[in-house]
Amino acid sequence: MASNIVVVFDFDKTIVECDSDNWVVDELGFTDLFNELFPTMPWNNLMDKMMMELHSHGKTIEDIVEVLKRIPINPRIIPSIKAAYALGCDLRVVSDANTFFIETILKHFGIRECFSEINTNPGYVDEEGRLRILPYHDLNKPPHKCNLCPPNMCKGLIINRIQDSLSPCEENKRFIYLGDGSGDYCPSLRLKEKDFVMPRKNFPVWDLICKDPSLVKAKIYEWSDGEDQERVLHQLIKNISMEENVQLISTEFKKQIPPFKAHEALPKALSIKI
Ligand SMILES: [Mg+2]
Ligand SMILES: [Zn+2]
Repeated sequence: MASNIVVVFDFDKTIVECDSDNWVVDELGFTDLFNELFPTMPWNNLMDKMMMELHSHGKTIEDIVEVLKRIPINPRIIPSIKAAYALGCDLRVVSDANTFFIETILKHFGIRECFSEINTNPGYVDEEGRLRILPYHDLNKPPHKCNLCPPNMCKGLIINRIQDSLSPCEENKRFIYLGDGSGDYCPSLRLKEKDFVMPRKNFPVWDLICKDPSLVKAKIYEWSDGEDQERVLHQLIKNISMEENVQLISTEFKKQIPPFKAHEALPKALSIKI
């Protein structure tokens, strides 16, 4: 079993093949408006605004759900996630998309139950049937002070929160973090020596890590597509489990050796003294 492994997935371009925000906007025919508004406001606010625009142009929640269900995903991702879950890994999502998109997609693919936690911007349908997307960090509270991340979400803080939430007996848990975007760089820096980061090759997080890999304490294993992600992830899970088993066996072995008894060694110690 791999119950001592926490696997943290980014969502867009890591679990699904594209960016879910762009996918919905493009598929519903609002790319031009999105591009027009893009320079005027932060991404998170822009998505909330775009959902308002979709609603005022007669696009319903059902239309959005239908588009989300068609999002491209590499065929190996779903079996890979199911297998990691079956092995006992604790799987979590950390994403700058939103709860509505992620929950809808994961449920559609039958893998929602594999994840113990989804950390992302809240998304909900209001009384008028409009999808609202809010920032993960309450912008009315003091800012998160991380200059690597956008104001609405610092993924590094989320990783720190997960690390801190582990009880003392879980402190030896090993993290595997998978991501592609620049927002995945900050959490990569927060991982420890015993952890692993899996940056997607030739994507922004990989470029950032490559600039100075010595800044990352975790071991770095790149991946390029869904097949590759499955192969690397499961090799790491296997290696970690084997490593832990070896440690377990050696501790068991030590237990079988009769404990050292102080009184037996005492006379010898005394004779040396003389
Ligand atoms: Mg991503
Ligand atoms: Zn950050």
